[in-house]
Parts: sequence; C-alpha cells; structure tokens
Amino acid sequence: MAEQLAPMPGDWRRALAVVAHPDDLEYGCAAAVATWTGEGREVTYLLATRGEAGIDTLEPAQAGPVREREQRASAAVVGVTSVEFLDHADGVIEYGTALRRDLTAAIRRHRPELVITLNFDDTWDGTVWNTPDHRAVGRATLDAAGDAGNRWIFRDTDAEPWDGVRWVAVAGTDSPTHAVDVTDGLEAGVRSLIEHRAYIEALTDEDPETYARTFVEDTVRQAAKHFNGDPAVTFRLYPR
Ligand SMILES: [Zn+2]
Repeated sequence: MAEQLAPMPGDWRRALAVVAHPDDLEYGCAAAVATWTGEGREVTYLLATRGEAGIDTLEPAQAGPVREREQRASAAVVGVTSVEFLDHADGVIEYGTALRRDLTAAIRRHRPELVITLNFDDTWDGTVWNTPDHRAVGRATLDAAGDAGNRWIFRDTDAEPWDGVRWVAVAGTDSPTHAVDVTDGLEAGVRSLIEHRAYIEALTDEDPETYARTFVEDTVRQAAKHFNGDPAVTFRLYPR
C-alpha cells in the first residue's frame, strides 16, 4: 500500500486561505474548504491579485473585474462569503516586506488558527516550473504567520498582533504530510472551479464542466491512495 498521510488537525474554528490568483484555490483545495465550512468552520479568502494578467484574450482592465466576479462566485459555492483582494500586480508580485506587511495585517485582522496557502516550491510534480507569483505569496504567507505575532514589526497595522496561528497548510505540493477526507465537499469543490468559466474557456477547448470535474475528481482520487481510499485533499503542514 502507498505511504499513508496523517489526518489534518480538526481542532480549529477559523482559517484564512492566502493565494496569488483567482482560481488558485479551486484546483482541488476548495473541496476541503467546502467540507470544513459544512462543519460550521469559518474560512476567509485573501488574494494578492485580481488575476488581471491571466486571460490572454482579455486586456487586464477588463479581465480583473471578470476574474474578481468569478472568484466571489466560486467562494460562495463552498460557503466562503469573505473574499479580499490586495491589489498586488498579477504576474510580477514581489516577495518582500510590502507583501509580508499586507499578509500580516490580514492575519491580525482575521485571527485564524489555520492558514492555508498554495504550493510555492520551484516546480509542480518536479517537472512543471512554478510561477514567480506562487513562489512569492506562499513563502510570504509562512513568514507572515510568524510576523503577525511580533508586536515590534509592522507596527502600523490596524489590528492587534495575533500569535494564534497554529498551522500553515500548503495545498498542491508534491511532498504532502496530511490530508482531509472531502467526501462531503467534493461536489461543491467541482462546482467552484466551474465558476471560473471565462478563465477556463480561454484556457481550453474542452467543455468547462467536463474540464473542472475531470481535474478535481482525478486529484482527489490520486490522493485517496494515500488516505485509506477516501477522496482527499492533501497538504504539507507546518505546525507553529
Ligand atoms: Zn495562480
């Protein structure tokens, strides 16, 4: 049998999911979000950009509002009503103190116990080069989970320091440590990806519903081999 993953911690109430672009959470992770909100937990989305450089056939000024709308709709499908955008520039997000400060301010405001982010390794699966935005935002998120608790840095944020982040969970990595059974959230997870219709239609000739269902169901089925056969979403977990 394939190596088995540990179950994700369950003793938390509030999570903050931090990613670079609209659609980043919908390629699998949203099924976990739907499962958690279905259990009465609160999840907030924080996006560093509006994904305005993500559709080749649409000018950024047009693409930004379209993608923001699609992101809000896809969040609603999985029980997330709070979606915030930081307005960093899509494609050229810079890792640095400006980004860390923005993420720190959000963590202090929302006071999550669990912070979720996306794969920031150099590659996906060892062969597909990851984007600079994903690398910058993932790393800065882990850093900000610590920064948020230090009262002596980023002293100009509105909210009080928050040292209550207990874990940062990284989705989409090829070296996961934990997983969550998404039997209850799988269908909502699929539907949340379908909400990125304009993005998907520009990306592929495949029918958006078929494309989304195939991707998300394949992902959770692959993960099931490492989680007692249950449909799952995997994470690399960093306890704090
Ligand atoms: Zn992305």
